[in-house]
Amino acid sequence: MTRIGGPISLTDPVRFSDDPPRVCDVVIIGGGIAGVMTGLYLTRAGLRVFLCEKGRIAAEQSSRNWGWVRQQGRDPAELPIMIRSLRLWERLDQGLGAHVGLVRGGVTYLAEDEATMARYQDWLAIARDHGLDTRLVDRAELDAVLPNASGWIGGLTTPSDARAEPWTAVPAIAAMAHAEGLGIAENCAARTVEVANGAVTGVHHGTRADPGRPGVIGGQGMVRAVWRECRNAPAAACGAGDSGRDGPTAADFEGAADSNSPFAAKDGNYTLAPKSNMMLVPTPCAI
Ligand SMILES: Cc1cc2nc3c(=O)[nH]c(=O)nc-3n(C[C@H](O)[C@H](O)[C@H](O)COP(=O)(O)OP(=O)(O)OC[C@H]3O[C@@H](n4cnc5c(N)ncnc54)[C@H](O)[C@@H]3O)c2cc1C
Repeated sequence: MTRIGGPISLTDPVRFSDDPPRVCDVVIIGGGIAGVMTGLYLTRAGLRVFLCEKGRIAAEQSSRNWGWVRQQGRDPAELPIMIRSLRLWERLDQGLGAHVGLVRGGVTYLAEDEATMARYQDWLAIARDHGLDTRLVDRAELDAVLPNASGWIGGLTTPSDARAEPWTAVPAIAAMAHAEGLGIAENCAARTVEVANGAVTGVHHGTRADPGRPGVIGGQGMVRAVWRECRNAPAAACGAGDSGRDGPTAADFEGAADSNSPFAAKDGNYTLAPKSNMMLVPTPCAI
C-alpha cells in the first residue's frame, strides 16, 4: 500500500524562513488552509503579503481533517460557494498534481431509519436546484459496496463530491504561493497586534529560535478589516473538536461496517471521528 504524506508536527524541518519585512500590505497570522489560501490569492492580486506561522504550515487542524470537498448536505446559501470551491480545487490539482490528491470519489451519508431517509429526500430538491448529481441509495446498492453493513437502510450520495489529501495539499499550496511571492516564516508567532485610530499598524512577532529579538511588521491599514470584524464579534464562539488521522490499519475495516466504524481509505490511511459527538469549545479564538 502506498502511503501519501503523514502527520505534520514540530519535529518536521522548517521549510519556510523568510525574514519578516519591516512593512507590508497584509500580515496573515496562521498557516492553515485559510491563511495559505488567503496568502495565495492576495499575492496574486498584487499585494505585499507576509504569513507568520507559530509552528509549521498545516501542522494543526488543516492537516487533521477528513479532506472532504463536499457539496452534499450544505445549506442552500453555501452551495454556490462550494460548487465554485470544487472548481478551484480542481485547478489546484491540475497545477500541483499528486500533492493535492483530489479524487472525485463521492460522499455518501448513511441512514439507520426512515426519518433520516426522509431528510435526505428533502435535500434532493436543493441538489436539483443547483444541478448536482445527488441521489438516494437503497439497501441493495449499499450491500454491493459495504457487504454485511449492519443497521443501514440506505443513504444519500453525491458522486461529484471530492476529497483532497490535507497532509500534502496545504504544504504544496504554500510552496506554490511562496514561489509566487508570498513571504512565509514558520516558527514565527504573532504576539501582539498594534492598533492606532481603529487601524492595525503593526504585528509584533517572535521566533522560537530567537525570542530575544522580537520584531514588528508595520503597514498602513494592514488587516484592518479582519480586526474590525473581530472587535465587533461576540466574545465567544463555538469551534468543533479535533479529528484524528493516522497511518495504515488493517483490522479496522474488513468489509463490515456500522455507524461507529472508522473507514479505511484506499491509500491505507484512515480517518477516525465519533459520529455524533462533537466537543464545542467556546473560545474567542474560535471566531
Ligand atoms: C472533525 C473535523 C473534520 C473536518 N473535516 C473537514 C472536511 O472534511 N473538509 C473541510 O473542508 N473541512 C473540514 N474540517 C474543517 C477544517 O479542518 C477547518 O475549517 C480548517 O482546517 C481551518 O483552517 P484554519 O487555517 O482556519 O485553521 P488551522 O488549520 O487551525 O490553522 C491555524 C494556524 O494558525 C497558527 N497560529 C495560531 N496562533 C498563531 C499566532 N499567534 N501566530 C502565528 N500562528 C498562529 C496555528 O499554529 C495554525 O497552524 C473539519 C474539522 C473537524 C474538527
